[in-house]
Amino acid sequence: MTDPIELDCQAAADRLHELIDQELTPEIEAAVQRHLDECAPCMAVFEFEQGFRRFMKLKMQGVKASRDLKDHIIQRLSEEKRQAADK
Ligand SMILES: [Zn+2]
Repeated sequence: MTDPIELDCQAAADRLHELIDQELTPEIEAAVQRHLDECAPCMAVFEFEQGFRRFMKLKMQGVKASRDLKDHIIQRLSEEKRQAADK
């Protein structure tokens, strides 16, 4: 049985993005989570970063959706033009 990993605020802050991206090993993830549970300032930073990341993701999905719609409209227009040409 090894001792649980102890992180200070700097070490936890360095791993916040990896925690959000779920890129940490289970041991480090548990250590960061434990630090966040015990440290309100770091928890506040984590929640801010996580909220910001979620916001950016939604924004990027919005861009993608509008691009798909644009492609769809362009396709419809070219089909209509082709049908008009057939007459
Ligand atoms: Zn801290």
